[in-house]
Amino acid sequence: MSEVLINVDHIVKRYDNNTVLNDLSLQVHKGEVLVVVGPSGCGKSTLLRTMNGLEPIQDGQITYRDKKVDAKNKDITEIRQKVGMVFQSYELFPHMSILDNITLSPILVQKKERKEAEKEAEDLLRRVGLIDKKDAYPRQLSGGQKQRVAIVRALAMHPEVLLFDEVTAALDPEMVREVLDVILELAKQGSTMVIVTHEMNFAKAVADRVIFLDKGNIVEEGSPFDFFEDPKTERAKKFLQTFTFDKVDKGAGI
Ligand code: ADP
Repeated sequence: MSEVLINVDHIVKRYDNNTVLNDLSLQVHKGEVLVVVGPSGCGKSTLLRTMNGLEPIQDGQITYRDKKVDAKNKDITEIRQKVGMVFQSYELFPHMSILDNITLSPILVQKKERKEAEKEAEDLLRRVGLIDKKDAYPRQLSGGQKQRVAIVRALAMHPEVLLFDEVTAALDPEMVREVLDVILELAKQGSTMVIVTHEMNFAKAVADRVIFLDKGNIVEEGSPFDFFEDPKTERAKKFLQTFTFDKVDKGAGI
């Protein structure tokens, strides 16, 4: 398999006495789409947040390439540029235009020329069908549009890995597809992504590898075909029984 970008090595994450991730290890390889599924509260979001240093861990180690992922590490800003994250709640600045939201970090952190940053932001907005919104403010956009902008904002930093934390969970059903289509398109282009989702049809369509998490550890891991068609554990079988599956068109895109 291709090179390892993120190595999660026997990590333990606790909130007070609550052990949320318990001696968990996994690797994210360049070019793969890793989908993390599991029941609510099993630690998916926490796991994702540890991967770019948003949550401290109590034991074990996480590295991005040869760099230790740790908020106290001097490399953390660089790591967070390389390991981008998209959140359920968009996290756009309400007082800034869409274009300014997208160009803020490239200009401030990466010291890009404004003109160059704006051109790139416009190209990305065009790709997700939102170029006409560049001067609008977040409040003027639908949830699905805001989330597409949040993805563009992450892409503008040229991350090597993108982490998606339940990015459609707050959206009305009719807006889910437009966001998932953007992610499917990124997958087709070979982006390295770790995706936490409850959208099982999407997970099945987009994943190269699926990890099933329960009670803070990996219970099952495999290809989407193996996991969805032939789950090995009772826990995974039970989990999958709560979803209905349909045919997803992997060719749909932006
Ligand atoms: P999932 O994403 O699988 O739904 P989370 O990672 O959000 O699960 O949460 C895992 C566990 O960690 C839950 O028991 C949750 O209550 C707890 N937890 C998450 N964030 C915090 C926090 N900031 N403080 C205390 N406990 C937390």
